Amino acid sequence: MTAGPADADGSPSTVEEHQSAILSAITPLAPVRLELAAAEGCVLAEDVTAAVALPSFDNSSMDGYAVRAADVAGAARQAPAMLPVAGEIAAGDVGAYRLVPGTVIRIMTGAQLPAGADAVVPVEWTDGGTAQVAVYRPAEPGNAVRYAGGDAAEGETLLSAGTRMRAMQIAAAASAGRKAVTVRPRPRVVVLSTGNELAEPGTPLVPGQIWDSNSYMIAACAREAGAVAYRHSVVPDDPAGVLPALEEQLSRADLLITTGGVSMGGEHDVVKAALRELGTVTFRKVAMQPGMPQGFGVIGKGGAGGAGAERGVPIFTLPGNPVSAYVSFQVFVRPAIAALQGASDRSLPAVQAVLTGPARSPAGRRSYLRGVLDGSKVTPLSGQQSHQVASLGRANALIVVPEQETQLPAGHPVDVLVLP
Ligand code: AMP
Ligand code: MG
Repeated sequence: MTAGPADADGSPSTVEEHQSAILSAITPLAPVRLELAAAEGCVLAEDVTAAVALPSFDNSSMDGYAVRAADVAGAARQAPAMLPVAGEIAAGDVGAYRLVPGTVIRIMTGAQLPAGADAVVPVEWTDGGTAQVAVYRPAEPGNAVRYAGGDAAEGETLLSAGTRMRAMQIAAAASAGRKAVTVRPRPRVVVLSTGNELAEPGTPLVPGQIWDSNSYMIAACAREAGAVAYRHSVVPDDPAGVLPALEEQLSRADLLITTGGVSMGGEHDVVKAALRELGTVTFRKVAMQPGMPQGFGVIGKGGAGGAGAERGVPIFTLPGNPVSAYVSFQVFVRPAIAALQGASDRSLPAVQAVLTGPARSPAGRRSYLRGVLDGSKVTPLSGQQSHQVASLGRANALIVVPEQETQLPAGHPVDVLVLP
């Protein structure tokens, strides 16, 4: 966060103000050279160009016969062109073949076109002959031929820097002959929940306790956003314990996320208390619901050892209610993870849809309501309070209700964030 008081709980910021304050504090990770197989999920820090024309040679797109179009020009079902079959070329056959005029060569999909041929007659247009073939239809020059460079020209940019390497992009890079690519790696994210009330799932609860869901959820969110995530065990509400727990993680994290302990005052808000001391983390209200109390900053800069020493580690302190933490992640942390990778796809995909039922929102705050998106319709779920995880488990989308709206009727168009 830029200059300003370490505690700006006063007047709320807009979502965009907080987002841009975050992004201006993020420096992309250093690029590394990775083998293609290891680059999945990383983001290109270079353009990938075609080393050669793709394909690099003229070849057949069908099983059939390589011909001179002129030799089959008059072919018809009643008056087939009868031509001797002079040979066969299979995919991978690297011999230098030449078509003698007045003959054909049997050719397979992906096999190189022999010199002198200018078209391929698909086997379906013939009697399939092996010594001699009857061709029933004429073929235009270029028929069923994939020309060299028809996919990409030599030197053409196939993938631009900022592109995330998913299966499709890995295919393009491999097809271009690339063994390795220069990418920004998946950021290492450490997630840490605070709260004396938190019990580990799988252990019995006593009244007053709840099971910790945030650390599992946010670690999963981080992975969905392209990070490698580590979940720290629950940290109790002990002001003396929070900072050491965070500092211990600095050398192994590119980003830290805490949940809980940042409410609007109260001695149990240990995350806020611990980090406010450092002076580099700002706590503010953001005009949204859920997710009003937000904290962000950079810690560990110039500290002892590890990655934290040179660059500092960005830290998000998310509110404790699970839905608040979830929405805050999608709106603020996801773009930061993308920025660490230099990725061009920073936000969740957004679509427009029509409400199937009414949506309510407090005045002056942007609401993110859990909903079910089905084609061009979106249904707000019941149970929209920030602790209600039942509706979170049923949602596939967040319905965005703008700040100035307090009530939207069924049939109203809304922006919808599509959840991973
Ligand atoms: P806090 O921000 O710590 O005041 O917590 C706000 C609410 O979120 C309280 O009801 C907490 O019990 C709940 N909460 C905090 N952390 C977690 C967590 N890790 N998992 C589930 N609920 C939590
Ligand atoms: Mg708490």
